Amino acid sequence: MKAAVVRALGEPLVIEDRPDPEPGPGQVRIRLEASGLCHTDIHAAHGDWPVKPSPPFVPGHEGVGRVEALGDGVTHLRIGQRVAVPWLGQACGRCQYCLSGWETLCERQVNTGYGCDGGYAEKMIASADFAQPVPDGIDPRDAAPLTCAGVTTYKALKVAEVRPAQLVAISGIGGLGHLAVQYAKIAGATVAAIDVTDAKLELARELGADILIDARKEDPAEVLQRHGGAHTVLACAVNDAAFEAAYGGLRRGGKLVMVALPAHGTVRLPIFDTVLKGISVIGSIVGTRQDLAEVFQLHAAGRTRVISVSRELETVNESFQDVLHGDVDARIVFEFPQGG
Ligand code: NAD
Ligand code: ZN
Ligand code: ZN
Repeated sequence: MKAAVVRALGEPLVIEDRPDPEPGPGQVRIRLEASGLCHTDIHAAHGDWPVKPSPPFVPGHEGVGRVEALGDGVTHLRIGQRVAVPWLGQACGRCQYCLSGWETLCERQVNTGYGCDGGYAEKMIASADFAQPVPDGIDPRDAAPLTCAGVTTYKALKVAEVRPAQLVAISGIGGLGHLAVQYAKIAGATVAAIDVTDAKLELARELGADILIDARKEDPAEVLQRHGGAHTVLACAVNDAAFEAAYGGLRRGGKLVMVALPAHGTVRLPIFDTVLKGISVIGSIVGTRQDLAEVFQLHAAGRTRVISVSRELETVNESFQDVLHGDVDARIVFEFPQGG
């Protein structure tokens, strides 16, 4: 089977031919149909973060395909069933976090495409308990971006307790942000979209954003304050300064939800304003299996639109460059020919 492999951090990926992996107990082998390119995969391949993955590894945590082989003890999935394999590849199921609905914080979690091989391949192994069934009627090409970009932004808005009549700003209308705009609209909010390319702002408008802010030409903080200040800002742009601009756009009692993970990212925030204005700064990491089930449910009901471009896995290195240049319609999805 074909896989795109990170052999060394910061080097181009290499397409390799590998033997089909064998599922161990509690695992399944999946034949992939579609696999999304999340900006996290670029951070992984570049070794951008303090905790680094160990090459060689196969990135990808938006893999969607059909179960092809069952490991020992797997009884709840069947051959041919379509599943998605998210970033939360496995959690312990026993710790205080797992038991209290916060499996995303489990200290013993394994992350797909980071701590084990991921979806940039024709086939992959997944923990059966964390392979999420995809409802019939959802196109795998849509299911892929929902598996990380969707669940992450859906969860971030849940964590922020967004309610109708609030002003919610989404900073960065990429893979994550284009879905965030839609979830914020579904929650009933007025939505401001912030980006630095005309195409992304136009996309946000098409997806229902009420206020468009071009951060090249205007200060997002100032524009948001003119509208009374945001109740919540979701920081999805891979840029430290964008976090600070977002913070400046909050109203009293507002919430800055940190989602993007720029390399060596740090922000400087004024303590005085944070305290006197009662501002919350919250980190939000992906979502649980239940969150993903809800994301799929909304999509199956026709309430979200996934914008993506389809590519072949061989384009992986050019595709990384296109994402880094903001040159993509929301999400790149690698599609794998079926048949045979
Ligand atoms: P992306 O590259 O598709 O989107 C980033 C967007 O930000 C682009 O539209 C770009 O034009 C825009 N942008 C760049 N500079 C900007 C600025 N100064 N102001 C406003 N917008 C700007 O990336 P993505 O796949 O959506 O991922 C975004 C980030 O989220 C990455 O760092 C990724 O690692 C992280 N992420 C976090 C989680 C989590 O659980 N917290 C999950 C998935 C991804
Ligand atoms: Zn991701
Ligand atoms: Zn746990």
